[in-house]
Amino acid sequence: MPTLRSLEALQREGLVTPDPRLDEAAEAMAIAVTPEMLALIDRADPADPIARQFVPSVQETEVSADELADPIGDEARSPVKGIVHRYPDRVLLKPLHVCPVYCRFCFRREKVGPGGEALSADELAAALAYIRDRPEIWEVILTGGDPLMMSPRRLAELIVALDAIAHVAVIRVHSRVPIVDPGRVTAELVAALKPRRASVWLAVHCNHARELAPVTRAALARLADAGIPLMGQTVLLAGVNDDVATLEELMRALVSARVKPYYLHHPDLVRGTGHFRVSIARGQALMRALRGRLSGLAQPTYVLDVPGGHGKVPIGPAYLGDDPDALTVRDAFGGTHRYPL
Ligand code: SF4
Repeated sequence: MPTLRSLEALQREGLVTPDPRLDEAAEAMAIAVTPEMLALIDRADPADPIARQFVPSVQETEVSADELADPIGDEARSPVKGIVHRYPDRVLLKPLHVCPVYCRFCFRREKVGPGGEALSADELAAALAYIRDRPEIWEVILTGGDPLMMSPRRLAELIVALDAIAHVAVIRVHSRVPIVDPGRVTAELVAALKPRRASVWLAVHCNHARELAPVTRAALARLADAGIPLMGQTVLLAGVNDDVATLEELMRALVSARVKPYYLHHPDLVRGTGHFRVSIARGQALMRALRGRLSGLAQPTYVLDVPGGHGKVPIGPAYLGDDPDALTVRDAFGGTHRYPL
């Protein structure tokens, strides 16, 4: 079964019914649902958390005044095409804007898609030259789009080019491929992720424990067995994972698949995604509840990307009181205790 790429295909699967507002939603952002994700959808559940992530909704046509076309300010921090340089020691490198699925809440939803621009050979050379000319760049984060949509040959060429820049110690790859399109994690692709000198870390995007089906766990095992450290990033999404039992199950499933939970992203102010957003207070309450249920190994850091390109900050709950005369600390179960100043 091929990836579903149109409203008609989704209609044939019984996942949508005709509605002009869906046409509008599909025009604003491409559709892609891989066979692996389709197989996980419970058609009897109108609120299925897998379908909710990939099947367009009429709510996408509702845009509020606070929502932004470029919610994390990539453009403002892009000195050359394909590079985002927010912090002195690291850059994002975006070689392409194609993804295996199109997540309806995506923070780059106005950039990604099959028509999205990939860097030309000259543009990629200019982006690499930018990195090469700046010895302070210690880490390069490959993102997009999804960098693992490149062919293993092209990916290997890019990793080799980065590996040849002596000051680049770490190449971090952000991808949804191992989760949603695990068949792409071939021996060739794994080999492409193994440079001679620099370290490669792989952050996989996973929002629900059901996404970790056996075929996906096998793909993660191929990567982990090759010695590639794996991290998980999750977007906190209303109707997908905004309850403590779902998050707990997901974090346990990630750790058991040898993926260290890294970020829990507060959803960005993306146009047409209000139906996915939860309040920061709700996110903090969920993090507090997770602290009482999960070991440190399974705790992600709850982060907000400050709109305008100002980077990420942790926004988890505070555990210290703010009384200047008596330091108090709150435990994971809600108890409050004094601690010497
Ligand atoms: S895979 Fe990542 S970049 Fe692509 S649509 Fe989903 S969230 Fe956006």
